[in-house]
Amino acid sequence: MNKTNKTSTDMPEDLRKCIAFHGHQCPGLVYGYLIGKQAINILDLKRSKDEEIVAVCENDSCAVDSLQVLLGTTAGKGNLIINNYGKNAYTIFNRSRKRAYRFSRKQHYIYKGKDKEEFARLDTAISAGSETTRERWRHKYLKAEDLLSRPFDEIFSTSEVEFSMPPYAPLARSEACNKCGEMTMSTKMVSTDDGKYICIPCSRK
Ligand SMILES: [Zn+2]
Ligand SMILES: [Zn+2]
Repeated sequence: MNKTNKTSTDMPEDLRKCIAFHGHQCPGLVYGYLIGKQAINILDLKRSKDEEIVAVCENDSCAVDSLQVLLGTTAGKGNLIINNYGKNAYTIFNRSRKRAYRFSRKQHYIYKGKDKEEFARLDTAISAGSETTRERWRHKYLKAEDLLSRPFDEIFSTSEVEFSMPPYAPLARSEACNKCGEMTMSTKMVSTDDGKYICIPCSRK
């Protein structure tokens, strides 16, 4: 359990929702929270009921969960695309306005909050692998709080990118796999040498 989570009433309601969905407060979640808020502002967004907004995330970190909560770009709707390049970068599309922005983290993180000494001590312990669970969470908490206090432009660069319509989530009927018999999206099936259609797991056996 993360006992260092801030529970005071000064926490914004939308951040609270992100934490509730994700399970804990952490720097990654805050990165996504900052991106989501910025995208809402500059692209004039309302949480996506269908596929009005599309998020293309260049990592599969905690940040993605904030975007699911704030923007409604969710794994199940097909408007969350993860190109895992291991980059702290995100492109958010507004289909109706045909505009898109890409946000990318600028530089190495350096703690700028008021608990510098504590942060440095925790940093050293973590680098040495000698930290306790409580210390690890305290470190995450301090970093998350610090990130929340920064101006957006200090952390991320923002650039408008050319809008290209992201494809809608594909819909296709399901057919029974010719080997295991399980219902499978037809466009995901593989044809065999003897002209039968089977599911991907069966094709690998
Ligand atoms: Zn997390
Ligand atoms: Zn099968």
